Amino acid sequence: MTAPAPLVYPLAGLLGEPAGTERRYDINGATIALPDDLHLAEPIDGTVRITRTNRGVYVDAKLSTAIGGQCSRCLRDIEIPTTVEIHEEALPSLDPLTGHRLATSVEPDVARLSDHHELDLGALAAEAIALGEPIAPLCELDCPGLCVTCGARLGPDHVAHEEDEIDPRLAALQAFRVDGEGESE
Ligand SMILES: [Zn+2]
Ligand SMILES: [Zn+2]
Repeated sequence: MTAPAPLVYPLAGLLGEPAGTERRYDINGATIALPDDLHLAEPIDGTVRITRTNRGVYVDAKLSTAIGGQCSRCLRDIEIPTTVEIHEEALPSLDPLTGHRLATSVEPDVARLSDHHELDLGALAAEAIALGEPIAPLCELDCPGLCVTCGARLGPDHVAHEEDEIDPRLAALQAFRVDGEGESE
């Protein structure tokens, strides 16, 4: 079964089934909004299993996507591949049998189904993806960073500067390195 974006699952039927009943869905190309300044660079693919529990449902999801970011060394735009897993219980807001509103104050932090018994997996996914954002992402493991003289990205395309262009502080550092090598011989 394929669920429509944006990852909202109607579960009134599942809530009428005995505990242990499962529903499985494939997720193909779903898009959601992320908190803060984050955005998806790729749509979300993955799978979700929703299991009826005595009190509500248990959600097991594995989602793969990529978020947009910036290399922390050379500052170019990159896509950061991200896989998150969600293992979380979600409880109804209304009693499935009587329709009466359930007290939510006892467990204020637990995920809740909507008043129409829908699971908003997108909200759980947005939270998990934001938490998984790396603090200092790199475009490649050995990103050479930026040239301190011209500000361009170092690497094969960067042309070395003439000696006299080098910052005097760097020149001093180079001289020091040469001296150091001399001493070790
Ligand atoms: Zn980089
Ligand atoms: Zn340069």
